[in-house]
Order: sequence, then C-alpha cells, then structure tokens
Amino acid sequence: MADMTQITPRSALDQPASFKRRGLLFVLSSPSGAGKSTISRKLLADDPGLNMSVSATTRPPRPGEVDGKDYHFVDLERFREMTAASQFLEWAHVFDHRYGTPRAPVETMLEAGQDVLFDIDWQGAQQLYQIAGGDVVRVFILPPSMTELERRLRGRRTDSDEVIERRMTRAHGEISHWDGYDYVLVNDDADACFAKVRTILHAERLKRSRQTGLIGFIRKLERED
Ligand code: ADP
Ligand code: 5GP
Repeated sequence: MADMTQITPRSALDQPASFKRRGLLFVLSSPSGAGKSTISRKLLADDPGLNMSVSATTRPPRPGEVDGKDYHFVDLERFREMTAASQFLEWAHVFDHRYGTPRAPVETMLEAGQDVLFDIDWQGAQQLYQIAGGDVVRVFILPPSMTELERRLRGRRTDSDEVIERRMTRAHGEISHWDGYDYVLVNDDADACFAKVRTILHAERLKRSRQTGLIGFIRKLERED
C-alpha cells in the first residue's frame, strides 16, 4: 500500500487567513441507492476546492454513464494489470465486480492543493484510512428506511430487478460497517443532507492539525508588538 505521508502535506489556500494546510481525503459511503452520488454532485458543484476521484471498475456502464467521468470502465485483464502495477490506492470486490481508486490522479490533486472526494465502499474507506489516517474523513449515509432505499433504487431505473435485489441484500452488510466512519447521516431530505455534509467538510478543513501554515502565522504574531 502507498506511503501517503509522502503526498499528504499539501498547501491549499482556501481559508480567509490563507494558511497552508494538509489536503483532505473526503470519503462518502452508503448502501447503494441511499443517495451518495446525488450528494457528491451537489458538493462538487458547490466547492471548487474539491475534486472527485474517478474509480476504475469492471462493472459495465449503466445507461447514461460516461467513461472517464463516472468511472473508468475497464475489463478484468486491464484491472489485474493495474493491480499488479500498484496503480490503485485501494481496491475491492463489490457486487461481483472490482472497483479501485487510481493512485496517480489523487496524488496530482493533493499536490495541487485540492481536496479529494471518494465515493467508495467500507472496504475502500478502511484501506484509505490505513494509508492516510488523519487525512481521511469518512462520512456514511443511511437511507431513512429500507423501504425507501428500495424505492430509490427502483426509481433510479438503472438496474434490473435481479441487480436491485442483490443491492438490497448487500445493503444490510454495508450498514453493519457504520461504526467505521467519523460521521453518520440519514439522507431523508437531499438538500438538508447535503448541507450537513458541506458543514462537515468546512469544519474539517479548519482543524488545527490540518493547518500546516498556522505555526508560521503564530510566530509572526508573537514577533509583533
Ligand atoms: P447512490 O449513489 O448512493 O447509489 P443515488 O445518489 O444514485 O444513490 O440516489 C439513488 C436515487 O435516489 C436517485 O434516483 C436519486 O435521485 C434519489 N435520491 C437521492 N437522495 C434522495 C432523497 N433524499 N430523497 C429522495 N430521493 C433521493
Ligand atoms: P455502483 O456500482 O453503484 O456505482 O457502486 C457500487 C459500490 O462500489 C458503491 O458502494 C461504491 O461506493 C463502491 N465503489 C465505487 N468505486 C469504488 C472504489 O474505487 N473502491 C471501492 N472500494 N469501492 C468503490
């Protein structure tokens, strides 16, 4: 696994006092259909300092999904090559397919002072946390009920009945990992949930431990009369 200490101390000039700070790896997980793509889209549209990590997957594209934007759609052979070449920060089996986070774009974004948003499952959140520890913020999104989760999966009209059944079965397993997260939210109203996630992002950016430029500012204050 990568030594993320080499890539995490980054400068980002987004606070009023423009302190340099460490880049954030902001993870959103949920059972499929609970609404994390919806929340992610809102966050990305709202925040120019946040960039999406686009995963690679062996899953076939859903109608409307765009290669390189929603996912990098690759075959199993290519995925295996990427794994063998250590091109993933993390990867996991999900729903009979493989999903992985390409390492290079994440490094580039952090180096450019951007925070990175990950839509990955609990296995990915766990692996990222092992690599990057305190630079990772993990948010888990719950549906208000299992009935509503199924309604959302059906309403999305992207999966067959069989796939929806498998996603519902797997949802219980996903939810059982709620305690591996720093924040757990219920996505009842999408706008309200988005506002909470945005608040978490903004507050996490302000943490003292992330503001690596703070000490220089304090020293300067100390030198002033
Ligand atoms: P995920 O990325 O977690 O699989 P999506 O964001 O694709 O889930 O959401 C699944 C479906 O539920 C989509 O059709 C989306 O528009 C809808 N949805 C998301 N959040 C809400 C909400 N709070 N209330 C009602 N419908 C929602
Ligand atoms: P979907 O097929 O609905 O797009 O995604 C299925 C699940 O795979 C979701 O829980 C999603 O968060 C997860 N996932 C997507 N990309 C990655 C990845 O790169 N790594 C891991 N570990 N999980 C991922």
